[in-house]
Amino acid sequence: MIKRYRLTMLCTIALAALLAAPLVARDTTFKGTVAKVDKTSVEITTGEGAAKKTVAFAVTDKTKVMRAGAAVAFDAAAIKVGEGLAITVAKGDEAKTDFTCSMHPEVSEAAAGKCAKCGMTLKQRTVPAKAATIQLGGK
Ligand SMILES: [Zn+2]
Repeated sequence: MIKRYRLTMLCTIALAALLAAPLVARDTTFKGTVAKVDKTSVEITTGEGAAKKTVAFAVTDKTKVMRAGAAVAFDAAAIKVGEGLAITVAKGDEAKTDFTCSMHPEVSEAAAGKCAKCGMTLKQRTVPAKAATIQLGGK
């Protein structure tokens, strides 16, 4: 009897965790205007006054670009500086700072040190957030 009760409790907890997961692993949306755009990145200006800042996002082949409710191909030439947009970043794809080797960019360490492959001193690097979705034509 007690065993069955425990199992029910475990199932309930597992189910609750499953249901709560999408709420915890939430995407982040940044709204702003285009400051700079090229083939692999978009820089946007967000916030007003003192909170105003420029944030860079990497555009990958997985980035979904939307304009007027329709999916379009990413075309840097078609995106104008000053244009309003919203960029969504998936959980885990946020900007981060790591330490890498100038010879081995695939090396990504959380702390300073030496490259495990060649022994060179690792350099700090800022990896921009990866854009999951770019919604163009806002504002
Ligand atoms: Zn190295």
